Amino acid sequence: MGGTDKKPMYITIPGLDDGVTLKAIFTTRFGGVSSPPYDTLNLSLQRDDNRENVIENYKRLSCETGIPLEHIVLTRQVHGDEISIIDKSHCGMGLVSEYKLGNSDGLITADKNIALVTIHADCVPVYLYDPAKSVIALVHSGWRGTLLNIAAKAVKLMKDRYKCKAFDIVAGIGPHIRKCCFEVHNDVYDLFLKKFPDYDFLFEASGGKYRIDLGGVITRTLTAEGLNGCNIHDIERCTVCEKELFFSHRGGQGKTGAGAAVLMMV
Ligand SMILES: [Zn+2]
Repeated sequence: MGGTDKKPMYITIPGLDDGVTLKAIFTTRFGGVSSPPYDTLNLSLQRDDNRENVIENYKRLSCETGIPLEHIVLTRQVHGDEISIIDKSHCGMGLVSEYKLGNSDGLITADKNIALVTIHADCVPVYLYDPAKSVIALVHSGWRGTLLNIAAKAVKLMKDRYKCKAFDIVAGIGPHIRKCCFEVHNDVYDLFLKKFPDYDFLFEASGGKYRIDLGGVITRTLTAEGLNGCNIHDIERCTVCEKELFFSHRGGQGKTGAGAAVLMMV
């Protein structure tokens, strides 16, 4: 297990991270200093964890990734569908400086060396990259954000504001609560069925409850927006099944820290 002497451990998102021009990572629980239930690499400042510990975790991540703290941008996430346009003036926001923007669950930028960060404990991280126009977007899409179509909205914004072409865009779907573990009652199931009637094959009845394939829904909303299915890379890892490795809201019965999705053009 991640002792305080260990380095922060993260995984890279296949299909996006090339180690040179694009960093696309997702952090694990290991290599930070936070105490249970935030052990150890909690990167959420919106929980009851000790703020100094979270900042120390960011410092360690910064050393390990080579991304300066001043280049990281955080937003206040509210399970909504607002997407913030980020430029150099926002660098360090939410971490080493105050928030300059309202709540948002998505970030988009055309600037290099800005690390977009979203915070996750089961909710789906969606990474978007257009290598032709050099634009990136990162989205926090839990079940509420998925119902609000936030990933597809980010693609729309890439097209409208930056003239990106959908077939140039590469997408990554990071670790999240997958269909194996995302069990809901019929209230949530009904919302999905109403919003996405064509995707009913992604919702499965199981013992009076339902399982929903959030990654599958998001993938289809992206292809509906024009992305080539071959350019959508789902890492196919479940945060609940791997709750020893990743922070998981359900896996920790609601008491847990959260990991970070990080996306940056170098
Ligand atoms: Zn699972």
